[in-house]
Amino acid sequence: MRAVEPVTVTPPANSATAIALVCDSPHSGTHYPTDFGHSVERAALRRSEDTDIDALWSGVAAVGGVLVCATFPRSYIDPNRDEADIDLSMIDGPWPHTVLPSARCLELGNGLMWRNTPEHLPIYTRRLSIEQAAVRIEHYWRPYRLALAAQLESAAARHGGYWHLNLHSMPSNAYERLGLPARPLADVVLGNRHNTTCSTGFTDMVANAFKARGYSVAVNDPYEGVELVRLAGDPTRHRHSLQIEINRALYMDEGTRERLPRFDALKADIDQVLTSVHAYVEAGAASLPARYGSLTPAP
Ligand SMILES: [Zn+2]
Repeated sequence: MRAVEPVTVTPPANSATAIALVCDSPHSGTHYPTDFGHSVERAALRRSEDTDIDALWSGVAAVGGVLVCATFPRSYIDPNRDEADIDLSMIDGPWPHTVLPSARCLELGNGLMWRNTPEHLPIYTRRLSIEQAAVRIEHYWRPYRLALAAQLESAAARHGGYWHLNLHSMPSNAYERLGLPARPLADVVLGNRHNTTCSTGFTDMVANAFKARGYSVAVNDPYEGVELVRLAGDPTRHRHSLQIEINRALYMDEGTRERLPRFDALKADIDQVLTSVHAYVEAGAASLPARYGSLTPAP
């Protein structure tokens, strides 16, 4: 039987009208690799999935954007973490590569390869061998990173820049999970690492598109974006990257991961947001000094 590919890339519905929009969903994968070998029950791992985010944003292709999705779960290996964000206590033997664990990795067990579930349950009763960990990086993490980078570079080459949406969903108890004082969570949280990964104009446009459809929107609270927006975003080079977190209570039963009846209404609203994104990207790209495809001959 053919193994499931680690990443899917859905191109624009019509390549002739492709725009400088690249979207990715790194955490919606539900295919659990057979060598995962977790000890905790599967249901506890599933609570870390951004289940169905790929389906909610499947309208990206219709507006001329490309959508990159992971098929594997983030609890196995997380494409939104740095390759060196490793907790050595999980590894059996001397890890032969750079190790630079984040605070989130050491304190919560949520680095490149997760040690704990979101409810702080240990995922394993064993250590991973060096070979097992290397397979996760080379066969899952790196193909995802390379697929996304290829789409971003292709858009930059064709259009002279790009707009990137890094797509996620968040648990309705996000503040509690993060160990922060309880307060109401917005329907949509946009993250731009404090205005370093994209223009405020792009952030405001997406915020206003959701607000116009009745959704509450917060920016950088409590999620500001992690590695993928940091790597993709470089506004000074016309590379704009924004993280979007959708509150899971809007579309799923967070216990069973089943869709709620209003899933279709949220999908329709996201399709409308994408219409606004399309108009914004088209207008923005028209003002860029495109590297290829320009009608003006080089001097
Ligand atoms: Zn996510």
